[in-house]
Amino acid sequence: MKEILSMLNRLLEVLRIPFSVFRLSGEDLMQLLHAGGHSHYLSRHRAGLIIERVRLVSAAFCLLTFAWIGLDFFAFELKTWLILVQLRLVSTTIFLLLAWRWDFEKHLRTGFIMMIMMMANPLIFYGFAYGLFAGQAFTGVAHIVATVYTMLPYIIIAGLSLFPLTALEAVLFALPILAITAFAPQFAGVGEVTDSIATLWILGLILGVYILAGMSQLHSMISLVHQASKDPLTDLLTRRTGTEIIDLYFRISVLHNTPFSVIFFDLDHFKLINDEYGHEAGDEALRNTAKKLHEYLRRSDVIVRWGGEEMVAVLPNTNMDGIKLILNRVLKDWLGNRPDGTPLTASIGVAERISDTIDDWPELIEMADKRMYAAKKSGRARAILCGEEVMVSDQAS
Ligand code: GH3
Ligand code: MG
Ligand code: MG
Repeated sequence: MKEILSMLNRLLEVLRIPFSVFRLSGEDLMQLLHAGGHSHYLSRHRAGLIIERVRLVSAAFCLLTFAWIGLDFFAFELKTWLILVQLRLVSTTIFLLLAWRWDFEKHLRTGFIMMIMMMANPLIFYGFAYGLFAGQAFTGVAHIVATVYTMLPYIIIAGLSLFPLTALEAVLFALPILAITAFAPQFAGVGEVTDSIATLWILGLILGVYILAGMSQLHSMISLVHQASKDPLTDLLTRRTGTEIIDLYFRISVLHNTPFSVIFFDLDHFKLINDEYGHEAGDEALRNTAKKLHEYLRRSDVIVRWGGEEMVAVLPNTNMDGIKLILNRVLKDWLGNRPDGTPLTASIGVAERISDTIDDWPELIEMADKRMYAAKKSGRARAILCGEEVMVSDQAS
């Protein structure tokens, strides 16, 4: 596997054109090869982008397919034209339905189904056209138009490069197109095996470019999502991204009736660090806090920089017992040290969807914020949990 990775890496380096920005680690490359390691957040954005592009391309093709009825009229005799008109009306309707702004959840699966429908539309057309034109010798305009029909698969493959796909997805999408393109002429009884091989060859070459284009799109998207979603100082999620994820997790937890907790942290007397030791020392303390929080929480938990020195940990599938385990660790070692060597403490508020009977996530955050504030008022360096239960550390100052 390692050799393959390094070979691919070298290949990408040779293909500098769209890849000059690529400085790929093994993990980055894996994200471009298949979607296994993609985060929820990335998948949602990818789904949104794919659905938007299907709509855009379908809208353009809806108009083109319809307008082409006129061109067919001049190219073919009436009988052929009437058959083509029917095909074109069906095809136009499918494109119209795909371009329509339906209101639905943007799942990656939905995006892929829409892509398959969008591609199948001209492919079916291509298959029919082959059957319809088989054995007919066209001249003039009819010859040109009939030839263009046989080129439809190339347009489809070129169109696929508009989508941010992993290499694996790109290959899976392309295989049926390759198969239909290569074998349709033989089914229609007009093709030689050698023709199919030549077609597969050229399509294979185009396919290579298309896979790289898809990966390149995906790579830019991953970088953009990363830049927009991470706070540069602490590398925690930004509030905007954080709320999107909280919204998503909240709905999943309602759907499966599983617990869902948030922990609100506000560092104690943080301003004093800035005032006494300078802003740089404050920044260092924030970076260290983020590192500590990652140590205390699971990999699947999400940590958000909510405001200046306020952080929110988002814990799907975690009830009060789980929260207490985490808080025991936090209250023991706290969030690193202040420049004077004393522990950097926080006032902490917890809320959980089921225990607090809460219906939407802003209310959940508000409850945790309220308890954090109560912790601050009642002496800092402590946590207030559901039912206003208080946890205080031995080293509280
Ligand atoms: P309390 O215990 O009541 O929470 O006191 P506090 O000093 O932590 O609270 P306050 O809200 O008054 O101050 C927060 C401070 O955090 C003020 C602000 O300058 C500082 N801060 C916010 N963001 C950053 C940052 O990115 N870097 C640094 N160095 N300081 C920051
Ligand atoms: Mg604050
Ligand atoms: Mg504070």
